[in-house]
Amino acid sequence: MEKLIQKAKDPFPSNSCIIPQEPYTIQEIEPGPPHEALFLVLAYLPLFELLAMGEVCMSLRDALHKDVLPWLNIIVERPLNLRLTDEILENITSKAIGRLKTLALMNCVKITDDGLQSVIDRNHGINKVQQRQQPMLFHRRNSSMFSNESEPLIDVDICPKCKDVRMVYDCPREACKRKNKKLMQPTAGCKGCNLCIPRCEECGGCLESEEIEETACGDGLCSECWLQLPKCNFCNRPNCNRHTNRQYKHSSSSGFVCEICHYMQY
Ligand SMILES: [Zn+2]
Ligand SMILES: [Zn+2]
Ligand SMILES: [Zn+2]
Ligand SMILES: [Zn+2]
Ligand SMILES: [Zn+2]
Repeated sequence: MEKLIQKAKDPFPSNSCIIPQEPYTIQEIEPGPPHEALFLVLAYLPLFELLAMGEVCMSLRDALHKDVLPWLNIIVERPLNLRLTDEILENITSKAIGRLKTLALMNCVKITDDGLQSVIDRNHGINKVQQRQQPMLFHRRNSSMFSNESEPLIDVDICPKCKDVRMVYDCPREACKRKNKKLMQPTAGCKGCNLCIPRCEECGGCLESEEIEETACGDGLCSECWLQLPKCNFCNRPNCNRHTNRQYKHSSSSGFVCEICHYMQY
């Protein structure tokens, strides 16, 4: 019994066939060019690491400067995300010379829809664009409001309808959310770019062409939102909330006159 315990305590008893291994030693690294594998890794690094690599040594900097490959898949996350502007994004993505494949912007709050769209327009081969935690829904697309849901509702991605890379919106309607989840074919649902799926300017819900209500400002509204908005005294059409600056007060009556009626001099 005692012998057994002793045996168990000794990891490499003399009569065992396990050859004791040398403890790991840190190999002395000869100064010289970086290992080839490092160049391969460049293509998979998030942007911050990529830029930091350029500072490591001349040959890496050269590789980053001359090679398109590391710039084809650009992922921006902490800590660069908060400082990334449209200009910097344009600058960085231009290194891919129009061959950008993936662009993932994690919480890049300064990037505007226009900034993103112009990158997409200049890189026709782009097949995946992710923009996490940006304003989520169609009707909030230009505001800095954040949804408190952790799940992203907007993915700039390939539109399931037209197959173009665009801002693709989810539908906030409860019935649609349930329906879309069950669909086998995403093309059948109402997730899509704003050219394929017209949406209500106020609530972001999808609109069938026959149910789009007319507004003075020209934006489409669903009937529910239309009913709730104040209307022009003359044409009885509302402005969406984004365009309330396009209305004129009449001294004689309460309410407002829309821009069109105002210029038509009613
Ligand atoms: Zn589309
Ligand atoms: Zn609506
Ligand atoms: Zn819908
Ligand atoms: Zn009017
Ligand atoms: Zn409007």
